[in-house]
Amino acid sequence: MQFRPHFKEYMWGGRKLGDVLGKPLGNGTSYAESWEVVDHGEDQSVVDNGPLAGRTLHSLVEEFGQPLLGSTASQFPLLLKYLDAQQNLSLQVHPDDDHAAMLTPPDRGKTEAWVVLHADPNSVIYAGLKRGFDRAAFDRELQRGTGHLCVHQIHPEVGDCIFIPAGVVHAIGAGLLIAEIQQASNTTFRLFDWNRVGADGQPRPLHLEQGLMVTDYGRGPVEKQVAHPTDRDHVERLVVCNKFVLDRWTTSFSHDFPCDGRFHMLTVVQGAVRIEHPLMSDPLGRGSTVLIPAERETLALDAIEPTIMLDMYLPGGP
Ligand SMILES: [Zn+2]
Repeated sequence: MQFRPHFKEYMWGGRKLGDVLGKPLGNGTSYAESWEVVDHGEDQSVVDNGPLAGRTLHSLVEEFGQPLLGSTASQFPLLLKYLDAQQNLSLQVHPDDDHAAMLTPPDRGKTEAWVVLHADPNSVIYAGLKRGFDRAAFDRELQRGTGHLCVHQIHPEVGDCIFIPAGVVHAIGAGLLIAEIQQASNTTFRLFDWNRVGADGQPRPLHLEQGLMVTDYGRGPVEKQVAHPTDRDHVERLVVCNKFVLDRWTTSFSHDFPCDGRFHMLTVVQGAVRIEHPLMSDPLGRGSTVLIPAERETLALDAIEPTIMLDMYLPGGP
């Protein structure tokens, strides 16, 4: 299944989602996010190909459950998006599942991981509190408008992967184009917004109390993920956590993609790949995403040029 991209325009966005990833943007100037696969309340992916065209992902989860997901759930559990940060995103933190379940309305927690597709020179990612900042010390700096000075900085390069568990304070800096895999949640507590104002001339609201409550003060600075080899030469494992697995394929060849009883989300970050299937007439180019249901035949994937592709799925065996 392929979906229509679901765009979000925020003050920090731009036009790279169209210029670099070929997304069909409108005339706006602040396209911040392209939600590739989402089933979260009103935010719904809509199928773009085949006999299910026009259906929302949520309606497919309700109708097909196990054959689609490989397990049963009331909501598709993961959310995949691309982000174009022309300005810094706010310094923020997300709750874990336990904290998010207590919200009104309840939500999932949000653990997320990023893969850098483009990085301007001197761009920065903020990830994890520096050592020694407890709640009181961090709160004091936030009140002074200097909360970002408490947060560890990473200088990202193309291909870097950063893993942000729920509770880790973070900000994506200006000049980055990123693919993000996360739990299907939309709960963000904004801690600091760089002393700027939104389109209406007002500062965007902060959520200091909730943010300080869900921050994990024990975790410390976050460093770039180390890619681990797998039993397949063309596949590296970037993240394994209890919410998702993130693999990266680097290949110029054809590969079988056997059924493992799980759904997979594939997105192409460089090159192009053909999936041998009657519903897939065109190859997937840069920025294209496909959702492969859990119940299926073995597929053949054919990289038609040097290709880098992300593969995201739920952890644990079928
Ligand atoms: Zn975030």
